Amino acid sequence: MNFASLTKEDLAGLLALEDFTPVYEQADQIRREAKGNQVHIRAILEFSNHCKRGCLYCGLNRRNQNVSRYRMKPEEILLTARSAYKAGYQTLVLQSGEDPYFKTDLLAELVKEIASWGMAVTVSCGEIRPAYGPLKKAGASRYLLKHETADALLYNRLHPEGSLADRIICLKELKALGFETGSGFMVGLPGQTLETLAEDLLLLKKLNCDMAGIGPFIPHPATPLKEAVPGSPELTKRCVALARILLPHCHLPATTALGVMDGREKETVFSCGANVVMRKVTPEPYKSLYEIYPAHLEPTDIPKDRALLEEQILALGRIPI
Ligand code: SF4
Repeated sequence: MNFASLTKEDLAGLLALEDFTPVYEQADQIRREAKGNQVHIRAILEFSNHCKRGCLYCGLNRRNQNVSRYRMKPEEILLTARSAYKAGYQTLVLQSGEDPYFKTDLLAELVKEIASWGMAVTVSCGEIRPAYGPLKKAGASRYLLKHETADALLYNRLHPEGSLADRIICLKELKALGFETGSGFMVGLPGQTLETLAEDLLLLKKLNCDMAGIGPFIPHPATPLKEAVPGSPELTKRCVALARILLPHCHLPATTALGVMDGREKETVFSCGANVVMRKVTPEPYKSLYEIYPAHLEPTDIPKDRALLEEQILALGRIPI
């Protein structure tokens, strides 16, 4: 099969394969050739869980009255970013809900300060189009805005305040401004098919994404989708492998945290073509309040978490950076 020109039908067929091993092997080989053995560790700092949107799958959606909302103070944000930098993180992802409190000037100031230390700053704060230019100017080098699903009807059902068309306009604008642009999608959304996932993968390619976050849908108990069936980890890994094949140079985070795995599962976490690990540096009490989907997380200890992660990556024969 010519992997370079995979069609929607080809991709859906591959996702349904009984034995996916040859595709994993191909993805891993492409990863080795295009990205080497390095694993990039990214720090994520979730500085506000306020959000003006009501995405149906998200625990932070504005209709959820059961979540305590927080905004970190600018000095807290900088202090945490500094600790991450000192612990060896070279990239910080500044993430929040769509929170109008953090106006462009304030965000740009934070970016400027953090970038001045030599840290690469990724911003992930949603569809805040007027801010994109000033953030780039302030020194942000990457922007992460997942498209979530390439099925326009499904997208519009899940995002009452938005449209897939608007999302794509934002992604194209980010690309045009010179951001390393990240998108991504969820696997296992109710109503999604293998053909939808094939379209998700082709959209990543069409946008020529520099990063892609692909993760399983996990129902949150305080959302309208609380009864839905969670996405399959295996299908998620298959999507990552196909993303590697379609976009050899793309940064692809591993779909599950290394810390919660053991044995064989841990050994294969990168074998689908992933080359990035994201690690939360958000301090308590905020970390457990940033719950897009339910997760049981240990409190943050920035230097210790980083050192442990490096050890785990080295133990897998890969090089942490
Ligand atoms: S997914 Fe993002 S934009 Fe949507 S409600 Fe959650 S935090 Fe807000």
